Parts: sequence; C-alpha cells; structure tokens
Amino acid sequence: MSQFDVTIIGSGPGGYVAAIRCAQLGFKTAIIEKYSTLGGTCLNVGCIPSKALLASSHHYEELQHFADHGIEVSGDVKVNLEKMIARKQAVVDQTSGGVKYLMDKNKVTVFEGVGSFESATSVKITKNDGSSEVIESKNIIIATGSKPSSLPFIKLDKDRIITSTEALKLKEVPKHLVIIGGGVIGIELGQVYLRLGAQVSVVEFMDRIIPGMDASLSKELTKVLKKQGMKFYTSHKVQSVDRAGDVVTVKAENAKGEIITLEGDYSLVSVGRRPYTDALNADKAGVKVTERGQIEVNDHLQTSASNIYAIGDVVRGAMLAHKAEEEGVMVAEILAGQKPHIDYNLIPGVVYTWPEVAAVGKTEEQLKAEGIEFKAGSFPFKALGRARAGGDTDGFVKILADAKTDEVLGVHMIGARCADLIAEAVTAMEFRASAEDISRMSHAHPTFAEAIKEAALAATGNRALHV
Ligand SMILES: Cc1cc2nc3c(=O)[nH]c(=O)nc-3n(C[C@H](O)[C@H](O)[C@H](O)COP(=O)(O)OP(=O)(O)OC[C@H]3O[C@@H](n4cnc5c(N)ncnc54)[C@H](O)[C@@H]3O)c2cc1C
Repeated sequence: MSQFDVTIIGSGPGGYVAAIRCAQLGFKTAIIEKYSTLGGTCLNVGCIPSKALLASSHHYEELQHFADHGIEVSGDVKVNLEKMIARKQAVVDQTSGGVKYLMDKNKVTVFEGVGSFESATSVKITKNDGSSEVIESKNIIIATGSKPSSLPFIKLDKDRIITSTEALKLKEVPKHLVIIGGGVIGIELGQVYLRLGAQVSVVEFMDRIIPGMDASLSKELTKVLKKQGMKFYTSHKVQSVDRAGDVVTVKAENAKGEIITLEGDYSLVSVGRRPYTDALNADKAGVKVTERGQIEVNDHLQTSASNIYAIGDVVRGAMLAHKAEEEGVMVAEILAGQKPHIDYNLIPGVVYTWPEVAAVGKTEEQLKAEGIEFKAGSFPFKALGRARAGGDTDGFVKILADAKTDEVLGVHMIGARCADLIAEAVTAMEFRASAEDISRMSHAHPTFAEAIKEAALAATGNRALHV
C-alpha cells in the first residue's frame, strides 16, 4: 500500500497550492482529484473561464465605443459565441495543464478518482471504472471545495434553468436571461451576456446587489449597470421558476406583497454555493461536519481528527480562490512546525465587472455596527487625468480610517483596474499604514492609482488636490 506524509483530497486552488507547499517543505505528497482535469472549480468552471468570457465580451463592448476614439470600423461586427466559448475552454485547458505540470515538477503523486476516508489515516480512491485502491497518509488535507446551491422549489434542468457551470458554455446568447441572485457570480455572468446582446434581469432578495460589500459600491455598480441596460428587482423574493418549452417563467414577490412575473428563455440560479463533502465519509475519520455542511475547523484549520485539516470553500469564511490558497500554504507550514498566520480581514474581494469593484477591510456598515469612529475620504475617477484619457471615468476610491489613530480600516473602490489597484490597499493595511502614510507616497502620474492617494488625502483633513 502506498504511504504518504500528506495527502490532499481535491485539486482546486486550495488543494493544489497546499500540495506544492507540502512538497517544497520536503513532505512525500499525494493529491486526489475526482475529475480528469486539475484545478477545481476555480480553473475549470469558476474564476478563469468567467474571466475569459468577461474579457472577450468586454472587447466586443469596447468596439461599440471605438468611434468615440476616432476609429471607424466598417463592415459587420458579430459575436461568434461558439468561438468565444472555445477560446475560453482553451484558456481553461492550458491553465489546468499548468497545474499538472506543477504537480509533476514538485513530484506530487496525482491520483484520479473519488477520495473517501476508510480511517483517519487511510483513504480509498475509487476510479471512474469502479476499481479502487487504498493509500495511507500520516496527515490529510480536505480541500473538496463547493458546488452551486439552489432553492428547494427550483428544479435545475441545467438546460434553461441553469447554474454558473452551464452559463459558461451556452450555445446561444439568451434573448432574456433572468438571474436569480445578485451576488458576484450572477452579476459577472450577467454582464457577459448583457454585453453580447441579451436582455438581463436580476432578481435579488436583499435590498441591493453584491450585498456583502460596502453599500456605496453596490449603489455605484447598480447605477452603472442600469446605464448599460441591466434591470434590477431588489427586495424581491423568488416564489417559483417554471419552464414550458423554451420559456422560463420566474415569479417573485416584492416588498409590498405584489407578485411580478418575468419571462425569459434562460434563468441563471446564482444564490450561492454549498460546501461539498459528498462521498467523503468524513465520519469514518472522526471529522465533524457543521450544520451548514462545512468541515468544522479550529484556528489552525485542524478538524476534530488531529491529523486531518480542511481548507478553502469547504470550511468557514469567504468562498474565494486566494483565501483557499492562503489556507493551503498555512496548513503545509503548520505541518512543518512553522507558525504561519492569516489575517482574514485583509483578504480582498473583487467583482470583475467593468468597472471593476474591489474592497478590503471593514465596510462603513461594519464600522458603524462595531461602534468604531472613523473618517472617510473619497475620490471620483472622473477627476483623474488617466481615467479621462482612457474614457473610464465611472467610479471612485473610498478610504475609511480610524478617527483617532488614522490607521486605514477599509478601502472600497469601483472603477477601471480596481481588481489590481486593491493590492496597494492590502499592502498598506498589512503594514498598518495610516491614511496619511498613503497620502505621502509618490504615485506615478497619470495612473488610476493616483485615486488611492487622493482618497487618502481626502481622508486626512480634506486635502484632495484634484477636486
Ligand atoms: C463562476 C465562478 C466564478 C468565480 N470567480 C472567482 C474569482 O474571480 N475569484 C475568486 O477568488 N474566486 C472565484 N470563484 C470562487 C472560487 O472558484 C472558489 O472559491 C475556489 O475554487 C475554492 O477553491 P477550493 O480549493 O476550496 O475548492 P474547489 O476549487 O471547489 O476544488 C475542489 C476540488 O475537489 C474535488 N473533489 C471534491 N470532492 C472530492 C473527493 N471526494 N475526491 C476527490 N476529489 C474531490 C472537486 O472535484 C474539485 O476539483 C468563482 C466561482 C465560480 C463558480
């Protein structure tokens, strides 16, 4: 029977990064993945394919504004969805192949099959053809991720009533896509099809879209997306989703108790994701699962079985690839006797719409709820030379700093390139910078990053220079 120091179940960003770090630290490492491609949700049906389609559809949308730049395009400009989806798949295949290369390079043994516990130190791997083998491992990391969740009364037929997975490989641009759930995934995929010509309606139970983020970001994103043509039904509770032929009918109740009816040809159900532990046999290893279906872990990501750890979407916290990666590194280093630490407050969140939305730290709503006194400074992109030069003037940067100490407590931004700009805020906050520290750093001109400096100036005595 094969013996390993560490075995990881699941090859998403949590699992494969944990495997690399374990191998770097000298552990004999194995990884088990039930699918034939490595990389998990993120690489196969999540981050990478959605960003590929966002990029392609953004190019198409930008083309409509070429005339503003004095570029005349003659002839038909058409979307070839089949080709766009094929390109996305090529990006996915290349990225997944890259993970396989990294496993080989780091001498990580890859097993294809479903991993299930036989005991706290042995895992059975069942292959597609039904054959199986059992391996022994001193330590095991559960990194089995998550799957799309739904509402109990919705029958997902995966054809016209679909999840994000199917939305990444549609064969036609919907005429009317009704999205249930205005979170990050719904809004990103909604913008893809909006750009490609679909009518897009978003039904959201809460009173705003991207409800976990600072309310100001949600307000600005709603404004911009409305301008682009997306329709919103916030504070609407979906009652039913039915299909008759090619027509999908969504009924929802608004705050006044009235029922609205939306008819579309596709409905994307994006109401969140559930931790995935099916087939794992966690109880055989003495691993506790919480009522919400997550693997229970302590601050060291250790489960109720002391040699078994769990990371990523299958445990508490934000369901984000980079959070899973940090946890993978942390567990590997704990196993090597090191003392790593993750500051969960400083895991940034990003929405890859255009304009992009990004945030780190506390929102205004959280600071108010926690009774922390703060000051806020904002700077609009329309006042920025670089934004005007590029024609990307929507959005702003907002910095929240402690009223007494000036320490930066939260940075919230919406605008061009914010997905990358947020790294400056994370760096500053990791080093516990004050708003004044940021305001005194030289930022190259003209750049979008100057908005961060200006917002820091605004937060420290209303000193913004260009408004
Ligand atoms: C459409 C979409 C877009 C997203 N975009 C972003 C984004 O832009 N940025 C971001 O940070 N996050 C994004 N996410 C979220 C991100 O994909 C997840 O947070 C991330 O993949 C979680 O990583 P993980 O390693 O915990 O699990 P996963 O990536 O879910 O990987 C788990 C793996 O475990 C395997 N597995 C499960 N059970 C077993 C078993 N018993 N035996 C063997 N293998 C098993 C699964 O097949 C899977 O490959 C997106 C998600 C979706 C759906």
